[in-house]
Amino acid sequence: MVNVQESLKVKREVLEISSEIMSESGQFLRKAGFIEILPVIISPITDPLNHSVFDASIDYYDGKYSLTKSMIFHKQLAVRVFPKIFTFSPNIRLETEDKKSTGRHLIEFTQLDLEVKGAKRDDILTLIENMFVEVFKDVDEKFGQIIRSMNPHFSIPKIPFERVKYLEAYDEYGPDFETILSKRATEPFWLIDIPIEEREFYDRLDGDGKVLVDMDLIYPYGFGEAISGGEREYEYEKILYRMNLKGNDHETLRWYLDEVKKGIPPSAGCGIGIERLTRFVCNLKHVSEARLFAKLPGTVSI
Ligand code: AMP
Ligand code: MG
Repeated sequence: MVNVQESLKVKREVLEISSEIMSESGQFLRKAGFIEILPVIISPITDPLNHSVFDASIDYYDGKYSLTKSMIFHKQLAVRVFPKIFTFSPNIRLETEDKKSTGRHLIEFTQLDLEVKGAKRDDILTLIENMFVEVFKDVDEKFGQIIRSMNPHFSIPKIPFERVKYLEAYDEYGPDFETILSKRATEPFWLIDIPIEEREFYDRLDGDGKVLVDMDLIYPYGFGEAISGGEREYEYEKILYRMNLKGNDHETLRWYLDEVKKGIPPSAGCGIGIERLTRFVCNLKHVSEARLFAKLPGTVSI
């Protein structure tokens, strides 16, 4: 039988650690010159994603609002106003039921989403590496004992993280390379230069036209993907070209295209799943243990 008292105790401590992760990462970014903006929950435009989810939109007068799947487009527009921005962005992705047992998927989750005007991919990699070290040191100082009782592997990540090229890893280990490498690793590592068909249209295409200037961060011990990000396309013609390659409907993204036409700056950024980071720090079986009111794919809950 589940010991309710015990499970409540664990949950409480995990939530305290998650709260500390959010506080310390926000503080780190502020010190690095970032400004926190409020999240956008509904908009006529949102991330088309690279996989299909159920529709989450609301009719409103003559128009339609979508619930935010990610704030990618708003981040690209926000760096017109402030060069370095971050937000704790609630994302709704009505994922299919088959994602229920991955350990990594909720239908409502939070991204620490950041974007930097004029940045290169390398700037973001270094920023995140330093942020991880600071956040891990902080939670170790405040919650070290409880974290180590849940997670025997807990350690401060060693930087710089290894950089693995997507296609080289694919050639060596086959289509399951991400899982294989994540299980084998004992430190987080970057997966870089992701092929065009694996990503949305907005990550910047490299000069050779095959891979993107982007990245995922992969957690060790089989915890899998932690972060996705990259440099962004910002030129109107290139964005249209990329949308056409993917078959993205122009009309759906008209608001975005109108803004791009006026001009958006080059930028780079990434999004970090807060529940996944908490799960990794606390060695949890499932991200649903990392938040109150967790919503699993395929179910309806409070
Ligand atoms: P994406 O740009 O789609 O890779 O999302 C950015 C980050 O958000 C991912 O690297 C994960 O950390 C997190 N994330 C994405 N989808 C989910 C989900 N369904 N449940 C929990 N976290 C997610
Ligand atoms: Mg991703």
